Amino acid sequence: MRYSPGDLSVELQELPDALAVDAVATVQRSAAAFEAWRFTNLVERIERLREAGQAITAIRETLARTITIETGKPITEATAEVGFVIAKIELAIADARKHLADQSEAENAKPNVVRRRPRGVAVVIGPFNFPIHLAHGAIVAYLLAGNTVIFKPSPLAMLACGAYAQAMSQAFPAGVFQIAFGGAAVGQALVADPWVRSVCFTGSVSAGRAIARACVDDLSKDVALELGGKNAAIVRADADLDSAATAIAEAACFTCGQRCNSTSRVLVDATVEAELIDRLRAKLPAFMPGDPLDPATRLGPIISAEAKQRYVNAIKTPGDWLLPGIPVEMVGGKRGHYVTPALLRVPADRPDHPLMTEELFAPIVVLTTTANDDDAVSRANATPFGLTASVFTRDADRFAWLADRLNVGNVYQNLPTTLSPGTLPFGGWGDSGNGRPGGRGFIRFTTQEQVIQCAE
Ligand code: NAD
Repeated sequence: MRYSPGDLSVELQELPDALAVDAVATVQRSAAAFEAWRFTNLVERIERLREAGQAITAIRETLARTITIETGKPITEATAEVGFVIAKIELAIADARKHLADQSEAENAKPNVVRRRPRGVAVVIGPFNFPIHLAHGAIVAYLLAGNTVIFKPSPLAMLACGAYAQAMSQAFPAGVFQIAFGGAAVGQALVADPWVRSVCFTGSVSAGRAIARACVDDLSKDVALELGGKNAAIVRADADLDSAATAIAEAACFTCGQRCNSTSRVLVDATVEAELIDRLRAKLPAFMPGDPLDPATRLGPIISAEAKQRYVNAIKTPGDWLLPGIPVEMVGGKRGHYVTPALLRVPADRPDHPLMTEELFAPIVVLTTTANDDDAVSRANATPFGLTASVFTRDADRFAWLADRLNVGNVYQNLPTTLSPGTLPFGGWGDSGNGRPGGRGFIRFTTQEQVIQCAE
């Protein structure tokens, strides 16, 4: 198959079907490659991965530009994404050294080793919004642990992921790392294949459920899910309101609101509501849609016509729009799916308002008031999601009390909900996922434990 990151003359939406792979043959190649790869040692795997890292570094500008052209992510963010990909390699190697090392228990009567063995063929399915970075974190963990990997990227970012896969795969023996182009049908066929032992999926809750269902009857499969969020910024009365508003605006607008950890709800203490609204109304419009290839642009287009239609439907919801959203056709003479940030105020007696509970994946902030810390917690926890939450308060004790009660995998004090540095674990609770594929320590999931005991 040939592709050229510079040539976007084809209709990208048509690519998945045109290029869809034969899932069975791809899995068979992976299973065959596993027989040798599983017996390589960690030193060799690290060497191969560092070689892959050099190949990625050599095309880093092309990768960033291709992500921007395909997905509309601003070039500054796409450049940062490729930087995360490169940095992840040494972080993953450090994780491998830490978590794959054999252990032994001195208390045991017989000599023993507790060790971690690879699972086999792994399938990694990625989303469009961080098309390389999120899949790459799982891919490198699986490879370092001795698994073979099939990467099925988002159909909306196939050129960028194809260029990444070409750089990666040349560093590994044939079949150890493969890319499988295609849409949901290819994803389903891959995860359901009986030779597949482990699945890591990042994407929507509905697709995550479909994948979990496809795997449920095969108990040899492990499934890690990184799903959506409805992340809240909790602003207490003692907060620095200006820096809270800055963090909320950024976390709502980065990647055009299309991050799993975007801020989409603001739960503000009623006594400072008016002051926070003034600041948000000043800061959100600074994110004006622009050409994503221009380094000055902070808000690129939304991913697709369907996503723009969902945005249009949301902003048509009757209510107290403090900043009405505007769909924009043309920016700087270029056509695209552009939108502006929007801010909706929902009365405190409407916690069931659909825009308060649904993941919108657009730069739309929904704000409501809270009466006290207890009320803030119960509203924050009133969705099935559990990914991230930010608490804005100057009081360390109040922050600790709230963090103890928030049902999310990642809690921040006076920081944006989108922070998630690669140096820490990351993952969600509830409908936001399991297995913590998004950060440090995921390599434990990519292996299974084996205990050896010997006669003295
Ligand atoms: P999506 O679910 O539409 O697609 C993600 C991937 O799954 C694509 O590769 C797609 O082809 C594939 N897919 C879709 N249906 C499938 C099925 N039934 N079986 C197998 N594969 C299938 O998601 P998206 O629109 O690309 O990404 C947005 C979603 O991803 C949001 O919900 C967002 O919150 C979530 N996300 C979560 C995290 C996280 O870390 N928790 C990170 C990024 C994105």
